[in-house]
Amino acid sequence: MGTKPKTPSQLIRPEIQALSAYHVPDSGNLIKLDAMENPYRWPDELIDQWLESLRSIELNRYPDPAARALTKQLKTVMQVPDTMQLVLGNGSDELIQMLAVALAQPDAWVLAPEPTFVMYRLIAEVAGMNYLGVPLDENFGLDVPAMLDAITKYQPALVFLAYPNNPTGTLFDREAIEEILRAASGLVILDEAYAPFTDASFMSRLGEFNNLLVMRTVSKMGLAGLRLGLLAGPACWLEELDKVRLPYNINVLTQASALFALEHKAMLDDQAAQIRKDRALLAGSMSALPGIQVYSSAANFILFRVPEGKCLDVFDSLREQGVLIKNLAAPQGPLVDCLRVTVGTPQQNQAFMAALQRALN
Ligand SMILES: *Cc1c(COP(=O)(O)O)cnc(C)c1O
Repeated sequence: MGTKPKTPSQLIRPEIQALSAYHVPDSGNLIKLDAMENPYRWPDELIDQWLESLRSIELNRYPDPAARALTKQLKTVMQVPDTMQLVLGNGSDELIQMLAVALAQPDAWVLAPEPTFVMYRLIAEVAGMNYLGVPLDENFGLDVPAMLDAITKYQPALVFLAYPNNPTGTLFDREAIEEILRAASGLVILDEAYAPFTDASFMSRLGEFNNLLVMRTVSKMGLAGLRLGLLAGPACWLEELDKVRLPYNINVLTQASALFALEHKAMLDDQAAQIRKDRALLAGSMSALPGIQVYSSAANFILFRVPEGKCLDVFDSLREQGVLIKNLAAPQGPLVDCLRVTVGTPQQNQAFMAALQRALN
């Protein structure tokens, strides 16, 4: 006698059924300023060298499970203190997932200031952890008393602080972060995905706080397609986290390509410097438009507010004019009427500005 097979709604955990899948819009031929990608291609000669460097790779072999050469290279270019260790992830998204999987216990909480990177909540919920978002203050800074209250009350196992923050672009106050580090009994993850676009970092402070880990990614510096992130911190934490890492999570092509690209880090640094300059120019032009409020950004994107109720119209008009940005699509709350644009090449930024001016008329 066979038993009747169960349906997805009987077998899939209810909290997974309640989720909607992470949606990425099709960008077609649009100028793509929605995902904080570096807009610059490599010179043809460098592409040839890179392809040549891939020639010796044996796709029939598993990758080095510890990605030793790449780890060593990353420690140098990211200025990780000598006494600290690294765990690599298939993007920092995978590192967030490894943290959640390792720390998920029935009463464990994840805490983050909001609005922030949506993956903290999504991954915490998928891993079966409780999630609490604490509102930022009206300038999108940390509300320290509210954060400290939440820490006392929930004793979160994990606190995520994006530094600079996405989608606001804010660089949180250093002393506020130090207070949180001292108050938290759990791990505090400083997510420095936008490190190439600011001089601020907690990397050199590793070891000063036993509960501090610093997360970086190569995505925003120009290698989003490779999917490579790193978590840096004391060995006692990273050795445990490494146990939940799938053995070959960084594939051979990513290991080799990242090694190659990081040998040309000076080019990526030049691109980041250019983007920082263009960020200031773009923010200046946007601020000059009537009705637009621009938030200052330490990242490679700019958050801005349009006149009340105009958000979707502006977004649609930009798309019709060939420019894709991010509609933060909040009918109310702190991001009401807000859109986010990635800083592109000077030509892309000009096309965006022209389209924005038309959209506002
Ligand atoms: C983009 C982004 C990431 C994602 O990085 P990947 O390495 O591409 O997974 C992580 N954190 C923040 C705050 C981001 O904005």
